[in-house]
Amino acid sequence: MTERVIIGDVGEVRLRIDRNIGEVFYDKTRPVGSFLFDFEANPAREWNQIVMQIYEKGFKIRLSTKAVPKSLKPCIDFLRGKYENGEPSAMFAAIRLWENYIKCYNLNHGADIFNERSAMLCKPFHALGDCKLWELQAVKALQSALRTEESQVELWYPMSKRPYECVVGYSSFLPMIFYYLNKINEWGFIVQSCKVCDTRFLARSRHFELCGDKCRKVNEVEAKRQFEERNKDCKIEKTYENHYQYWYNRLRRLKKTNTTDDVMTEFTGAFDDFRKGAVKHKKAVKSGKMKMSEFNSWLFEQQNIVDDMVKRGGEKWVDKP
Ligand SMILES: [Zn+2]
Repeated sequence: MTERVIIGDVGEVRLRIDRNIGEVFYDKTRPVGSFLFDFEANPAREWNQIVMQIYEKGFKIRLSTKAVPKSLKPCIDFLRGKYENGEPSAMFAAIRLWENYIKCYNLNHGADIFNERSAMLCKPFHALGDCKLWELQAVKALQSALRTEESQVELWYPMSKRPYECVVGYSSFLPMIFYYLNKINEWGFIVQSCKVCDTRFLARSRHFELCGDKCRKVNEVEAKRQFEERNKDCKIEKTYENHYQYWYNRLRRLKKTNTTDDVMTEFTGAFDDFRKGAVKHKKAVKSGKMKMSEFNSWLFEQQNIVDDMVKRGGEKWVDKP
């Protein structure tokens, strides 16, 4: 499922939706939930500082369309940065905030009206603190900040060529956010983090752990690699066990013979060295520092040591009566 966000003048947006024409600032289709996941978060309240600066300085200057007033330059730079950043909520707020300023500039008590409108617009950017928009805590924080004039949502229901519903926001994000969260709840979606790329996405159940085809592919390759790794580990252990058995069988036979203590001591010492060496080499092969063929050669060298001892043991290797 996808969501589509369009920012623009209401008439142009209608044209864009119905006839795919119309000049708009932003028109993108993204995975469902992206609007909430990427929503501007600004716990440091920079937006408020910008609003305050415009409120304090912007209404005392002569506004000209030709030159940017010096005192407002930092504010304009901030808003331009947010506009160019391309995150739709910040983009919308930047456009709306500046529009509000221009509209309020010549009004009676314009500064106060601008301040009030901007506070309403930017509220969800900082009201959440450090929590995320879709978390219960955030919803509670936003709900307690909600004013009556923000609690309505405009819906353009599906009609004629438009098979889908549109939620329209003008001066506050809150109705859209609550409407969206409510829909997610209704659809039975939950928020998941992709186990490959950590991107958040909406899923039908906890069972879905990957955000899309790209990550599914990455996950498959990784699973195959892990399988091969385990297989390799298995092969190393199996080879070692065979060689260990070779040593062990000879030790058992040795114990049954009239072997002198000297031979016995030499044998158990060599057996210990073999085991210690094998632990070290197995680790090296598993981490890729030693080739399997080198490990195999080492094992056969060790086998020569046993064979040599057996040979030197000579007639002592006779079964006990
Ligand atoms: Zn992913």
